[in-house]
Amino acid sequence: MSAQSLSIVVPNKRCVNDCAFCVSKMHCTDTVNMMDDSNKLFDLYLSDYLDRLEFCRDDKVDTIMLTGSSEPQQNRKFLTYFGLLIKLMKNPFHKIEMQTTGVLIDRNYLRFLRNHVGVNTIALSLSSFSNEKNREYNGTPIDLKVDIDQLCRDIKEYDFNLRLCLNMTDGFNWYDIDSIFSTAKALGANQITFRMLYSSYNNTPQDDWIFVHGAKPSAATSIKEYILEHGTELGTLPYGAKKYSVHGMSTVVDTDCMNKENKEENKYYILRPDCKLYSQWDDPASLIF
Ligand code: SF4
Repeated sequence: MSAQSLSIVVPNKRCVNDCAFCVSKMHCTDTVNMMDDSNKLFDLYLSDYLDRLEFCRDDKVDTIMLTGSSEPQQNRKFLTYFGLLIKLMKNPFHKIEMQTTGVLIDRNYLRFLRNHVGVNTIALSLSSFSNEKNREYNGTPIDLKVDIDQLCRDIKEYDFNLRLCLNMTDGFNWYDIDSIFSTAKALGANQITFRMLYSSYNNTPQDDWIFVHGAKPSAATSIKEYILEHGTELGTLPYGAKKYSVHGMSTVVDTDCMNKENKEENKYYILRPDCKLYSQWDDPASLIF
């Protein structure tokens, strides 16, 4: 079975947010950034980068996810080059998604993402439906607090697909499962991913925070029971999770965001700023080429 998607790690020195549960801080896998136009070998690396994109396309990967250990929108110059590279491909990708908390994204930026970068799905990470709790748990600077309602309205106005990726914290404790679905629907969501927070079980500060504020495993069980009762199955994703239609929204419960359970079947390819392709987030030995 081929990988489901290609994750593009957008280079940035540090993330504008400081999420209490940040996986990137648990696994320091910083790689050098060769996608820098001040690098004297930039032309060579651009061609290497394009090679990896073509390899994934030839291997029937059809979806790109712009992500990284920061917010992709922090590096507009990279996204500009990336958009051009996609246009240069013999057989370009059509499904391009961006994972973001929405910080720094205004209407002009949405227009750039849609028209130049070719993004068609915004995967908006929320740690709560409350603007303030979401800001606090995502460690977003006060002056950059995301207005969830407004951002979702803008995303829909530019006709992106909207996937709400709900980081299952106690920031959702005020809602029963029914209200989570109705709130997502009111925000215009087409898709929902319930993301159970990843613990490395290494007593990191993130592990400690997740122990206190993360949803308990029983929450995943309750959500799955709700989905089985109210949804109809749409199919199985390549890494094994099932996708359901629930109240008109495609719904997935992700208990394996680090791809630890299915090592023999790639869930992702990962293209890092060193212009090399990997299959695991936390293991440089997963280098493909
Ligand atoms: S937005 Fe992502 S990379 Fe940035 S701190 Fe939060 S989890 Fe980490």
